[in-house]
Amino acid sequence: MNDDDLDYLKTLTILYAEDDDSIRGQLCQFLNRRCKELYSTTNGKEGLEAFELYQPDIVVTDILMPVMDGLKMGEAIRAINPKTPIIITTAFEEPRYFHRAIDLGVDKYVTKPVDLAVLEKALLKCARAIRAEVALHELQERTTELLESQRIAKLGHWRMDLVHGKLSWSEEFLRIFEIDAARFGTSCAAFLSLIHPEDRESVAKSYQAHLEECADYDIEHRLLLTDGQVKYVHERCQTERDENGRPLRILGTVQDITERKLIELELEQHRLHLEDLVAVRTAELEKAKDQAEAANRAKSVFSANMSHELRTPLNAILGFAQLIERDPLLSEGHRRELQTINRAGRHLLALINDVLEISRIEAGHTAVQNEPFDLSDMLLSIEEMTRVRAEIKKLNFNVELLGVLPHFVKGDAHHLRQVLLNLLGNSVKYTDHGTITLRLKPIDDCISFEIIDTGVGIAEDDLQNIFHAFYQTDVGIAKGEGTGLGLTISREFIRLMGGEIQVTSAVNEGSIFAFTIPLPEISAPAITLKPQGQILSLAAGQPNYRVLIVEDNEDNRLLLTRLLENVGFEVRAVNDGKQAVAMFQSWHPNFIWMDMRMPVMDGYQATKMIRALPDGKNVKIAALTASAFKEDRDSILSAGCDDMLTKPLSEDSLFAIMGQLLQLEYCYAPTTTSSSNENAVNLDLSCLSPEWRDELSHAADMLDVEAIEVVVQKIKVEFPEQAQALENAIAGFHFDVIQQAIRDLQAD
Ligand code: ADP
Repeated sequence: MNDDDLDYLKTLTILYAEDDDSIRGQLCQFLNRRCKELYSTTNGKEGLEAFELYQPDIVVTDILMPVMDGLKMGEAIRAINPKTPIIITTAFEEPRYFHRAIDLGVDKYVTKPVDLAVLEKALLKCARAIRAEVALHELQERTTELLESQRIAKLGHWRMDLVHGKLSWSEEFLRIFEIDAARFGTSCAAFLSLIHPEDRESVAKSYQAHLEECADYDIEHRLLLTDGQVKYVHERCQTERDENGRPLRILGTVQDITERKLIELELEQHRLHLEDLVAVRTAELEKAKDQAEAANRAKSVFSANMSHELRTPLNAILGFAQLIERDPLLSEGHRRELQTINRAGRHLLALINDVLEISRIEAGHTAVQNEPFDLSDMLLSIEEMTRVRAEIKKLNFNVELLGVLPHFVKGDAHHLRQVLLNLLGNSVKYTDHGTITLRLKPIDDCISFEIIDTGVGIAEDDLQNIFHAFYQTDVGIAKGEGTGLGLTISREFIRLMGGEIQVTSAVNEGSIFAFTIPLPEISAPAITLKPQGQILSLAAGQPNYRVLIVEDNEDNRLLLTRLLENVGFEVRAVNDGKQAVAMFQSWHPNFIWMDMRMPVMDGYQATKMIRALPDGKNVKIAALTASAFKEDRDSILSAGCDDMLTKPLSEDSLFAIMGQLLQLEYCYAPTTTSSSNENAVNLDLSCLSPEWRDELSHAADMLDVEAIEVVVQKIKVEFPEQAQALENAIAGFHFDVIQQAIRDLQAD
């Protein structure tokens, strides 16, 4: 007997019914050892109740028992569970019982006295049957699950028996193809007929390749169903072959992937649409970028032209004003008027420069210098200028040194100076009471600068914008000064110098503008050309120098000629490059001032031609240009010029360049007035009548110099001090000081 069956029997429960105590006792002992649980009863009724309660796996019963016999109990049990195995033990072998037992379908009939070996055999047979039944049940369950999961996965399959020419398919396969099994032929052709006509060829090819060359059959294709519906399926198959490789049976799977495919197609469409959009947007952006670049180039050209157009006449205005100012016969009134022209011109020049500076920065034309300079000298002059301005507004001005500053450093003196003057200028401008502080702190090779004021401060919202070009706060606009460019320029300069400007501010408490830039100390003092006062003439014993002026603008030609002749040069002037080449050959000048933009032949060409002539290498040529761009400097020098001077001409630079190139010595006039003193304004207007104050206030609001002059003339005799102070204020364009002085009176 199989040990396996015995072990399995020990996992089962048995119901035993017997009215004879001794037999029951004996069998109970036997049965107990062979099963997991034994329920023993003395008649059929009890047995039936125990069956209902415990659902035993096997029933062993006597037939003749009081209350209910074993066969009746068996019938009732079968009604409940027809599969429960029943073993009958009985001494009666009457056919009556035997037939009833057969009708009942008992599994074994064991006669009494019970042969235990026979009973055991019967029990093992029942155990085997139960086990088979359980296994079958599990298999059925798994099959159901499998079918269910195939339905969920929309996965059908088909099988082709090539030996017998039979094709079969699963239910899910039929569901996917939406076909009626009865009407679907068992041929390949029937299946092929549902493949989308456009995909048929490729499906047939793959299938063929699989059969003949054992290639993988793993394809996605479309179905065109009878109702016109299109579905997408994924097909695979595996083929069983004989020893010669001939296919015997094929098992194939078909998965409905329509949902996934439609999503993929939709996504693909979105992607294509997106790509289209991106392409269109990119093209638009490229076009916009090209346009912006073209606009930027146009702006640079415009700036260069503007710089030429504005600076050239300004050059004449400022130059002649300076020349006339020197005339000893000039009346005091005219001298003052000339000073006004000079200052107004310089103010205008500063404005033009601001706008040009912005254009230059935006066009990327601003170059940063890294040259030695005298830091302490620069800070002293900045301090001096700021102190004068602060005093005018009765503000304290402190310079705080946190550490020892280097004397000489390497950096961009010009840009640093502009930034500091601008930030300190703002502090003075936007502070009415308290203190302006310039705090300096060396940190390794850098210096940190803080410009601190106790002024009006800047609101949170404005802080985001003050560095934008032309942005002014309400306070800034109300001041009626400035352009809103100062901070933009300062920020860019600081960036160029390797720093970043920071601002913290609180309304009505004040502001702190701070930045740190590299300014490494250098030991050797920088060579600085210091103005030594006005040049009167060439020093005695200098050779006679011939200077040729090449300039198409008549005013400038005249101005330059006068300036140079006054100092003692022998001067000739021509209108264009062609004449310059001719004059060079006939007159052999030692020095040429060459305007670069001229009709007929420009300065670049003329310089190149002169340099190519015999002796052309020896003459010193300096360019005159209104261009503000560094590239121009490079091309000017590479054309053969030794140096260049930007218009409007500064006399100092003009003579400095000539002095350096020709190794000249000059005689200077002794320096007299300190220019900063002229700015000092002490405005107490309390003595003026209300009408005059109104007139002044209105004129200051309108920035009307002439109208203020009228008042000055009227009060001059009676209040000479106030008249002078007002003149000083307008000379420095301090309309704000006038406005403030009047406001102070109104407040009193
Ligand atoms: P503006 O020529 O108007 O002074 P800026 O670019 O120098 O132009 O400054 C922009 C604005 O920032 C100014 O209009 C002013 O309102 C504000 N601002 C600048 N510096 C200060 C300061 N120290 N205190 C208060 N406001 C300031």
